[in-house]
Amino acid sequence: MIKKLFKEVKKSFPELKIKMLPGRANSFMVSRPFGDKIYYNKKKFGQYKFSDTAIKGIIAHELAHKTQAKKANIFEKTKILLNQKFSIFNNLKEEMKIEREADKIVIKRGYGKELIQFYKEIEIKVKDKKFIQKKKKSHLSIKEIKKLMK
Ligand SMILES: [Zn+2]
Repeated sequence: MIKKLFKEVKKSFPELKIKMLPGRANSFMVSRPFGDKIYYNKKKFGQYKFSDTAIKGIIAHELAHKTQAKKANIFEKTKILLNQKFSIFNNLKEEMKIEREADKIVIKRGYGKELIQFYKEIEIKVKDKKFIQKKKKSHLSIKEIKKLMK
């Protein structure tokens, strides 16, 4: 089911040649700046039972990271990779820049509504409040998304 949704969303990112596979992701989904794969955490998706709309939102967000990676040079890519693996920079400002830019790409590609749905559902379904707070800090708010969709 998630693969079908992926195929659909991917049509809005025609410049990318990306595959999505179940794999290790400490969050819901992860994409490395190198390579052509997005991994999703099958267990978490099973556990939270997000709506199709919400799943499309997170897929679009992850594909947006891939369009960012496509534009990035080798130094930027390495920095992102090291940060993902070891959080050595652990720089909220840097993370905010990347995450908020990804959300803006999602809106431009026409998945603002889906992104809002995903953020609404994680707030209801995910019990880890620390995780929610961190996400809220680094990503666009629902209000900001709505404003940008106009
Ligand atoms: Zn992200």
